[in-house]
Amino acid sequence: MAAGTSSWLDNIAPEIASKLHSDGEAVARFATDYGGIISAAPPAAVLRPSSPEDIAALIRCANRADSPFSVAARGNGHSTHGQAFAPGGVAIDMAELRGVGKRIRVSAEESYVDAGGEQLWIDVLEETLRHGMSMRSWVDYLYLTVGGTLSNAGVGGMVFQHGPMVSSVLELDVITGKGEMVTCSPELHSDLFNGVLGGLGQLGVITRARISLRPTPAKVRWLRLFYTDFDSLTSDQEFLISLRDKIGFDYVEGQVLLNHQQVDDPNFFSIEEAERINQLTAEFNAMYLLEVAVFFDSTSLVDQKVEGLLQRLSFVPGFAFSKDVSHFEFLNRVYTEEEHRKSSMAVDPSKIRHPWLNLFVPKSRIRDFQTGAEGILQNINPTGVVLLYPMNRNRWNENMTVVVPDEEVFYSVEFLWTSTEEDWKNLEAGNNEILGFCHRQGVQAKQYLAHYKSRTDWMEHFGEVKWKRFMQLKQTYDPKALLSPEQHIFTN
Ligand code: FAD
Repeated sequence: MAAGTSSWLDNIAPEIASKLHSDGEAVARFATDYGGIISAAPPAAVLRPSSPEDIAALIRCANRADSPFSVAARGNGHSTHGQAFAPGGVAIDMAELRGVGKRIRVSAEESYVDAGGEQLWIDVLEETLRHGMSMRSWVDYLYLTVGGTLSNAGVGGMVFQHGPMVSSVLELDVITGKGEMVTCSPELHSDLFNGVLGGLGQLGVITRARISLRPTPAKVRWLRLFYTDFDSLTSDQEFLISLRDKIGFDYVEGQVLLNHQQVDDPNFFSIEEAERINQLTAEFNAMYLLEVAVFFDSTSLVDQKVEGLLQRLSFVPGFAFSKDVSHFEFLNRVYTEEEHRKSSMAVDPSKIRHPWLNLFVPKSRIRDFQTGAEGILQNINPTGVVLLYPMNRNRWNENMTVVVPDEEVFYSVEFLWTSTEEDWKNLEAGNNEILGFCHRQGVQAKQYLAHYKSRTDWMEHFGEVKWKRFMQLKQTYDPKALLSPEQHIFTN
C-alpha cells in the first residue's frame, strides 16, 4: 500500500492491504460523481477487489479496527449528491470486478441471468440478447451498475406493467456490513433480500443478482406524440397504463417541454419534422410529449395494434411520429441522445453540473403539482429534460425498502437539469422551492434517489413502519453503520 495513509489502515490484513490504493490520483475520482455538486473529502483508500471475497475481507477488517472505518461501494458513480462517497474511509471500486472471469451468465432454459453487482446494464443486455431474451423492466439509461440501480429501484417506461427492476430480482449474493457473504431470495433470508432492494447500500454490497428474463421480440415500434394540453397528456397516459398486458403499449413515458424548448434529436426526427414541431412549440409556453413503444415480430400485427391505440388518444392531429428500431437500439436510446447533447454543447464537460430532482407524485395531485412547478420553473428558465409518466403501485413490492406514495397510481417526475458551475445553485434552489411547494400544499410526494441530510427527514421519508423495519435490519446486518455513509441515513 502506498505511503501517506491513515494509521488505521496499517492494521489491515496484508492480502487486502496490497489491493488498497491511497495516492492522490487514485482517491480523487472517488470524491466526485455525475452530479458534480457535492464537495467531500476523498476516501483514505480505494479497494480494487479481485473477487467478492476481497470485499468481505475488507469489511471484516473495518469491523475489527479499533476505530471502525466506513466503506462505500462505488458502482458507476452516477449518483448526483455524493451518495457513493466514503470520506476518510474506503471506497470499493466495483468496476475492477468487471475484468474478472465471466460474471454475466444466462440460463435460457430457466429464463434468468446472473449478473455481478458491478456489471453495467448495457453489458447485461448484450449478453441476454445473444440468447434472444431480455428483462421485463428497464431503466432508461444502461450505463449504471446492477448493484447501484437495485440499491434504488430502477425505473423506466415499463414499470407500469412489470414493476421497477427490483421487482424482477429472484436472488442476490450480498456481503453484509459484518462481512458475511449471504445468498438471499424471497424464500431464503427474505428480510435481507427485501431490505437490500431499494436499501441505498445500507445493509450490504450486492455482488450478484439473479434476474428473470423473457423472450424478446426482435423489433420495437417507437412513437412520439405531441400535446399542447397537460390534462390530455395525463389522461391518455393513465388510460394506457390501465390496459392489460399485450393489449396496450409495452412502454409508456412522457416529457414536458418547458419554455418553448425545441426538439433536437436527429436520431429520431427528420429536419422537416423537427421544424414543424418547433413551429408548434413556438406558439405554446409548454408542450408535452407522450413516448410509447410496442415490441413486435410481425409488422402487419403491429400496424393494426398501433392504429387502434392511436385512435383512442388525443394528441395534436398530425403530430404523431414513429420509427421502427431494433430492441437494442431502443433500450440504448438515452445514451445515443446523451452523446448527441454532449457533442452539441459549447461548455467543457468537466464544468457541467447535474442538480437533479426525482419525485413520485400521487395521481390525485399531479395537476396541482404541475401548476406549482411550472410557475416556479418559469422564473428559473432551466436547461434539461423533464420526464413525467405514471406507474401502477400494485407492481411494487411493499416489503422492499424502496418508498412510493400511498396511492394506486403515481407519477415519476424527473427534473434532469444540466447546468454550469455558475448556476447550479439556482437550480438546486428551484428544486427546494418545488419541495417546499409540495410540503405547503400537502402534495404527498416521495423523493426517488433522495439525498436528505437529517435523520428526521429520512424518518418522514420512510414512514413509521418502514423506518422501524429498516433500523432493525441495519442493527442486524450493519450494526456499526459502516456502509455507504454519505447517504446520511444512519451516520449523521
Ligand atoms: P453509484 O452512484 O456508484 O452508487 C449509488 C449508491 O449505491 C451508493 O450509495 C453506493 O454506495 C451504492 N452501491 C453501489 N454499488 C453497490 C452494490 N453493488 N451493492 C450495494 N450498494 C451499492 N435511475 C433509474 O431508476 N432509472 C433511470 O432510467 C435512470 N437513469 C439515469 C441516467 C443517468 C444519466 C444518471 C446519471 C442516473 C440515472 N438513474 C436512473 C439513477 C441511477 O439509477 C442511480 O443514480 C444509481 O445509483 C446509479 O448507479 P451507479 O452504478 O452509478 O451507482
